[in-house]
Amino acid sequence: MYSSGKKKYSGVLKFNVMLTITTNAYNNNYNKSKNASPKNVSFGYRLPEKIFFELKDIPQMKCGCCGNDMLQYNEITSILKTFAAGSKRALENSALDRYRDSEAFSFLKKLSLKNPKVTIRGLLSNVQAGAEMRDLPPRTQIDIMHIALISDGITVKAPRVMQKLEKYKDCFSDDLKEVLNLMEIYALKYPKNTFSEIFRKPEIAEYHSNIATLNKKQLTLKKIDVFKKLRDLSVRLSPEDRKSLQETNSSAMAIMNMEYYKPHIKKGLVEDLYKSFMKNCSDKTIEDELMKTVDEFPYGIPYSDIFINSCNIERKTDMDIVKRFLNELQETEEHIMAQIAGGGNEKSNKILLCKKCNSERSSLPYPFFLRFHPEMKQNLQKQINKVITFIKHRKLVGYDDYPVDVKQNLLDQSDNILKINISKYLQYREEQAIQNLEMAKAELSGNEEKFKEASLRLDAINARLEEIMAIVRQIKKERHSVLDEYNSISSARTESQKRIKDSLWELRSVKELKEADVELNQSIKKKIKEANCF
Ligand SMILES: [Zn+2]
Repeated sequence: MYSSGKKKYSGVLKFNVMLTITTNAYNNNYNKSKNASPKNVSFGYRLPEKIFFELKDIPQMKCGCCGNDMLQYNEITSILKTFAAGSKRALENSALDRYRDSEAFSFLKKLSLKNPKVTIRGLLSNVQAGAEMRDLPPRTQIDIMHIALISDGITVKAPRVMQKLEKYKDCFSDDLKEVLNLMEIYALKYPKNTFSEIFRKPEIAEYHSNIATLNKKQLTLKKIDVFKKLRDLSVRLSPEDRKSLQETNSSAMAIMNMEYYKPHIKKGLVEDLYKSFMKNCSDKTIEDELMKTVDEFPYGIPYSDIFINSCNIERKTDMDIVKRFLNELQETEEHIMAQIAGGGNEKSNKILLCKKCNSERSSLPYPFFLRFHPEMKQNLQKQINKVITFIKHRKLVGYDDYPVDVKQNLLDQSDNILKINISKYLQYREEQAIQNLEMAKAELSGNEEKFKEASLRLDAINARLEEIMAIVRQIKKERHSVLDEYNSISSARTESQKRIKDSLWELRSVKELKEADVELNQSIKKKIKEANCF
């Protein structure tokens, strides 16, 4: 269909193959974990290395409602970068026409000649280019920055954009699919332009603006016509029923004027209003006619005209247009109990939905919303199964109670329609608990054994200590008596020593007396002798 059709399909193929591989990987995980305890099987190589603390951070999640792949915010940012036009194409874009004769433009054109595929931002991030730019007059530098800013919003040309969006096509809402079909035709008609250029072409802008105005007029006329028929019908009713029908009509009008509800949602809400009116109406004969008339209500006009008009009015860039598509795929946290109804931010009040499904649900009650999305039951089960896989392999921390709590919350908020099966998870938890109990028991029996052993050893040591203490007591007693003996012997010894000292002293004094006596005797003898001589 486009110049490089081969490339287009290889891209789609790659995307599908990637999905299949990812899906199989998780299915395998799940099947294996049914048969074997996760302790014995390693899935680490399939699940990401990282550990997550928030549900919304788990990669490659699918919408819990439509089941489509979702993109995280940073993924959208990097995908958008692949849509950016190279400098050569960007400089050709009509958004830069007013700079075409400026010095800034010539400067960038010269840079672009060397690297035509690099974006203008890319060219300016080059060191040498930056230095050259600083030598230019201030006015030129400002112009260059303006051109760079505008170029951020310029994408590759229409056929390339279509080629790149192709792989996400099935994920878009019916409204955007309708726009995409129209864009496909325009891409063929104006292959050398980008989409914002195409949408702004006078013939296209005028055409869609006129059609949109016309459609709006027709919508209003049709509405007036149906309300008139309802009024005619009310004439046949009792005053009470007539008043009730008038009130129902005003409520229906209010719903039809709500901009954020999709046409099929409005239709459902309006039909419910009239059904509930009929329930209380005393005249049942008008039911068929009334419901047939209600069925004629128009709810919306073709979205492609509104889309193109709003792009022109809001001066959307090419990048804004692409973003509007990719944003529908963005992963968002859905509050099971809507915040407007008092729903909180707790984990158990959150599931993951793509922006398309999240905004469609808005704050509608689940029993009503599920009438349009019966597939949600199955897709939400798949999402919770994946979450359980992450919990089981300890890749999602702090969510052990999530499956049980979210199940209860979904039942409460959906009148028991959204029933999630978590029996396998509970079985796993039971097995875990049994395993923990067994481990604790084994640990206890090991400890009992050791305790017994230690007690015996302690008893033996105590006995030995008792023996030693008895010996110590005996020795102490012996010491006591020996000490008494020692003391008495010691004092006897002291006494003897004193006696020896006294005896010696006495002996010495007797000796002295004896010597003195001898001396005295001799002197007497001498004196006698001397006297005899005379
Ligand atoms: Zn979805």
